[in-house]
Amino acid sequence: MGIEIDNMKTKNNILHTSLYNFNMSANRLDLDEAIFQKMLGPKEKIEISIDPVLSNGKVVNVKAFIVRHNDVLGPAKGGIRMASDICLDDITGLAMEMTWKTSLIGVPFGGGKSGINLDPMSLSPNDKEIIIRAFIRGARHCIGPEIYIPAPDMGTNEKDMAHIRDCISYSDGTSITKGCFVTGKPVILGGIVGRREATGKGVVYTTLSMCEKLGLDITKMRVAVQGFGKVGSVVAAEIAKCGAKLVAVADLSGGIVNSDGLDIDALLQHVNDTDNGVKGFKKATEIDREKVLEIDCDILIPAAAGSQITLKNVKKIKAKIIAEAANVPTTPEADGILNQRQIHVIPDILCNAGGVFVSYLEYTQETQREQMTIAQVEQRLSDRMRKRFSEVYNFAKEKGLTMREAAMDIAVRKVVEGVYARGLLP
Ligand code: NAD
Repeated sequence: MGIEIDNMKTKNNILHTSLYNFNMSANRLDLDEAIFQKMLGPKEKIEISIDPVLSNGKVVNVKAFIVRHNDVLGPAKGGIRMASDICLDDITGLAMEMTWKTSLIGVPFGGGKSGINLDPMSLSPNDKEIIIRAFIRGARHCIGPEIYIPAPDMGTNEKDMAHIRDCISYSDGTSITKGCFVTGKPVILGGIVGRREATGKGVVYTTLSMCEKLGLDITKMRVAVQGFGKVGSVVAAEIAKCGAKLVAVADLSGGIVNSDGLDIDALLQHVNDTDNGVKGFKKATEIDREKVLEIDCDILIPAAAGSQITLKNVKKIKAKIIAEAANVPTTPEADGILNQRQIHVIPDILCNAGGVFVSYLEYTQETQREQMTIAQVEQRLSDRMRKRFSEVYNFAKEKGLTMREAAMDIAVRKVVEGVYARGLLP
């Protein structure tokens, strides 16, 4: 059954990593071939071309992708990524990850993802809005509360989600949308309090749970974070609040290190004031951004792009714990070495699932038209993340699996159960 594993293990790309992890799980679970093929998906993948007129009067031609990997447990859920190097394969791999993530965290969604092939940093706010609206017009038939519900991902944000909501209600001739078409919106437009911080906080809850299991005192932990965007900046601030020492941070502008601990409030202020990333922060030494992954620390948190921990750098990693805030940051070959080195990995589908969990709360809130309080959201997020962490940890111990293998097996099995419960006939 399945696909050529050896070939896949050595390819450093998101789709191959996702396929590899699924294939391994399918073998452990001894999935029937027909079920395997159904789960392999994707159910739908499309590439569209959009060509809006930018504010300078010029027409641009942009490729965009939408993938619905699996909708057995509910409508496809997953963010919109905007980056100049995004391709249909990446979006397919990320959509597959979402299928396992929503299943594992226990929300009634499937897996989806979309992508716009453009560097968001190259666009003025006005032009970014033009692109987002053009994307929605082109992809409108694929988006809806029962089909695919997008959210922010790398390169997109709350403001973009507001434009999506506006674009859809405008085209429908209504003030509000009929159900939740998009999550991660501003609170004033039906968003939920705490969504912005949810992914980062969820990462910290699972990291604290791992420290508790290993008998490690968080106030003695030195932490390095790769990526200082919507997720990485919250992770850095929240883990510092717990008493850990933030020793290194990197973003696209570069890397910074201070073994006495970075002043997180001053760093957030610097990034806000300069609008130029972490580079130039005075109370730190600058290093190459890749070196942050290899820095002397106890906990490493990749919170940027995929395929960052590879055969090239895995042996130089010094952390005892890796908390995967990013999606698919570790290639299969590197993962094997982390396991041999007994480095504890909190896998992405568990570690960063706080965002989609709170997106689910936003989805239900929008249906009920009643706002949840921040205390309610945070309590539910903390309870869910800690509970799922324990389930995965205990299952891994019981079966002699890694955390990634345990998380995958629990998630895949639940989707398979859904397939059988629905029945295989049309
Ligand atoms: P973002 O666009 O807000 O921030 C990305 C950050 O990573 C930026 O600081 C950027 O400079 C940095 N970066 C990019 N490439 C880098 C590199 N090679 N080296 C160092 N830094 C680099 O994106 P985000 O929403 O924070 O997402 C980060 C990761 O978390 C992605 O993998 C995303 O899929 C994942 N994720 C995000 C959410 C969410 O709610 N936003 C939820 C789950 C998972």
